[in-house]
This record gives sequence, structure tokens and C-alpha cells, in this order.
Amino acid sequence: MNFKMSIASNLQKVKSQLPKNVTLVAVSKTKPVADILEAYNAGQRIFGENKIQEMVDKQAQLPSDIQWHMIGHLQRNKVKYMASFVSMIHGVDSGKTLLEINKQANKHNRIIDCLLQVKIAEEETKFGLSEDEVCHILNDPKIQSMENCRIVGLMGMATFTDDTLQIEREFEHLYQFYSSLQPKHPYFKTLSMGMSGDYKIAINLGSTMVRLGSLIFGAR
Ligand SMILES: *Cc1c(COP(=O)(O)O)cnc(C)c1O
Repeated sequence: MNFKMSIASNLQKVKSQLPKNVTLVAVSKTKPVADILEAYNAGQRIFGENKIQEMVDKQAQLPSDIQWHMIGHLQRNKVKYMASFVSMIHGVDSGKTLLEINKQANKHNRIIDCLLQVKIAEEETKFGLSEDEVCHILNDPKIQSMENCRIVGLMGMATFTDDTLQIEREFEHLYQFYSSLQPKHPYFKTLSMGMSGDYKIAINLGSTMVRLGSLIFGAR
């Protein structure tokens, strides 16, 4: 079996393990267009990238019915390059960035779905908002009046560790916070948590969207 065959079979295997209510984002960062096409031909339509320029280049070469998700840390001045096509932005960590997304989406007469990234990991290196900051953003009238940027949920990354209990604690915490916001925010429908190493834990703790890279495309 060659490498490309294995992308399709990896995908099939992963999908067979996901509950129906959990959406799969195939994280294709650093991988060539041919690999993405292989996954596409196996039925996958949602792909995640963490660099805007890389996503823009790939989008131009691939079928137009792909839904592109930006999962990386955002540079506000680059939002304009993806505003015409990006389907969901996971890593939003400021009100200013939301307002820029709203402005750029408006130019294309589109609505872009966004997730607020919450810092749940104990690692210093992982970025994201505190719960207070999330509430502050959600209560800001300028944010509430946005017409082209819709906040549809939260995203979080657990600490990179073998300590399953710690990962569970961090995901459980994010799930509780998400659940507490949901009644007041009718658009909240997405909790993006879980990567190749921890997605099973995330699903057990209420994830509705997993972002899987190496499990599908192999090691980077
Ligand atoms: C790279 C990346 C992933 C996928 O990581 P894997 O361990 O390869 O599944 C998921 N989420 C984010 C934010 C990433 O940057």
C-alpha cells in the first residue's frame, strides 16, 4: 500500500470512530496539495491550516467546495487575505481581531464563523483568553452588533502531556464554561477541542469538533 492510499484509509478509520455529532477538521498544515486532494477524494471537505499564506495558496489550487478553517494564531493585518473564502476561524483571542474579521467579511458580503480561543493549558506557551476576557468580549456592544462575524463557540488546547488526568481536567473545565455560556448565546454550537493525541478524551468530555493532523496525514 502506498502513502496516498494510507491517507484515505487513515481517514476512514478515524471517521468510523467519531460520533455523528462530532465534526472532523483534517489539519493539512505543511502537507502538499496532493495529500489534501487524496483526503478530498475520500470524501473529506473540511481542512484546517495554521498559516494564512499557506491556506490562501492551497485554496487557489483545490476544489471550491472545500471548507477552510484557520486554526492558527491570527495576525490581524492578514485577515483580509482569507476573508473571501475562509469558513471558520478557531484561534481568535481579541475583540480587535473580531472587529477586523467583521470588517473584512463585510467587504465580501459574507458571514465568517469564529471561535474564541480559551487558555486551558498550564503551559505558558499556549495562548488564549481567560474566562473573564471571554465574557468581556461577549458583553461588548460593539462585538454584539457585528453583522458579518458570528461567534459560534470556543476552542481550546490541552497541555501537551502524558498525564491523562490533567488533560481531562482541562477539557472538562472548558466544557463547563462552554455549557454555561450556551443558554445566553444562541449561535454557540461548536466546542473545538481535541487533536491526534487527545481527541478521544475530548470527545468523551463534550467536544463537537476535533482537529486531527498527524493521525490522518502522518507525522509532520
Ligand atoms: C497542528 C494543529 C492541530 C493538529 O495536530 P495533530 O497533533 O497533528 O493532530 C490541531 N490544532 C491546532 C491548533 C494545530 O496547530
